[in-house]
Amino acid sequence: SKVLGIETSCDDTGCAIVDSNRNVLGEYLQSQQQIHLDFGGIIPPVARDLHKQNIDNVVTQALQQAQVSLNDLDAIAVTVKPGLPLSLLVGMNYAKELSKKSLKPLIPIHHMEAHALTARLVDHNLQLPFLVLLLSGGHCLLAIVKKVNEFLLLGQSIDDAPGEALDKAARRLQLKNMKEFRNCCGGQAIEKAALKGNPRAIDLGTFMTSYQDCNFSYSGLKNAVRSQILRSEQKHELKGDEIIPEVFDLCASIQYAITKHICTRVLRAIEFINRTQLLPDTNRTLVVSGGVASNMFIRKHLNLVCEEENFKLIVPPPKLCTDNGTMIAWNGIEKLNEHIDIFSHLDLDKIDIQSKEPLGKNISQQ
Ligand code: ATP
Ligand code: FE
Repeated sequence: SKVLGIETSCDDTGCAIVDSNRNVLGEYLQSQQQIHLDFGGIIPPVARDLHKQNIDNVVTQALQQAQVSLNDLDAIAVTVKPGLPLSLLVGMNYAKELSKKSLKPLIPIHHMEAHALTARLVDHNLQLPFLVLLLSGGHCLLAIVKKVNEFLLLGQSIDDAPGEALDKAARRLQLKNMKEFRNCCGGQAIEKAALKGNPRAIDLGTFMTSYQDCNFSYSGLKNAVRSQILRSEQKHELKGDEIIPEVFDLCASIQYAITKHICTRVLRAIEFINRTQLLPDTNRTLVVSGGVASNMFIRKHLNLVCEEENFKLIVPPPKLCTDNGTMIAWNGIEKLNEHIDIFSHLDLDKIDIQSKEPLGKNISQQ
């Protein structure tokens, strides 16, 4: 079968056509990143207008590349939760129109489930259940993927997400005013800048070390970064728009602190899994996805953790870790295979967006 997937939950307009043999027949992505960088953050009505402007072209390009028509499709999949309501609405309404026009069923998709299941598009040997770590602009969580639509939540961030922390730090450090980072999102800028710095230069602290759960926290890091920058500005008597001299060391130290926190929490989850036998021995696989999973420093250290703990690590390539239409189309294929969440073009009223929607059931870790 073939599914067309549409993603508009945040600031990327994406579309792809994927078949059940894991072929990506066509894909197209229109990013709004540069525009939002210039505004210093995402302004929802601006994101909505850009999605509206671009979606027709994005879908047409993907279909053309795939050389398929709407008639050749088995279903249309679209992200309906979680995300910015104004952005989600553009994608959902467009997908409903396609469904009416083509008489093809519509499959609503959970954006974070799609991030997690992308790994099964990349690795056809990956069996359920597996452990997943999602690191993105809005989320940070550890879960066990039991079935295509059944997730067991082990832990999540009690405050910010790592991507958010990186984006904020990059903004405070004014990295986009440096020529080499002008076109980078916060996470990419910090990863590149960190290559020139010493990760042990500045101690930004450790977080939640005494917590016996798998939750995450990034607000302490955010505050530590802010104080470091203020201290440096005062010490060097800088004006507001001057870049601090320790910028590279600070970037390396931020990346180090985030990596250390993530690795500690993953170790905690593995310890919990070992004790409770939540995963069979044959399924000791950790999947990492979401935009922050494209970070090579974080990947390298998670790989060390996995080697030590006898886990196999699977991380999709960077372009499948950040938002894209391909993961939505693939999730559509997975749901089609399992016969779940398939809505006829006559039942479209039953589908609506949800800006917030937790992923999976919580599990107590006492
Ligand atoms: P969510 O998936 O939680 O709804 P989102 O869709 O906005 O959030 P993604 O597109 O999955 O998030 O990821 C975007 C985030 O990834 C941004 O915060 C960005 O800074 C971060 N990011 C992108 N590339 C890198 C990198 N190389 N290193 C670290 N972070 C990165
Ligand atoms: Fe995302």
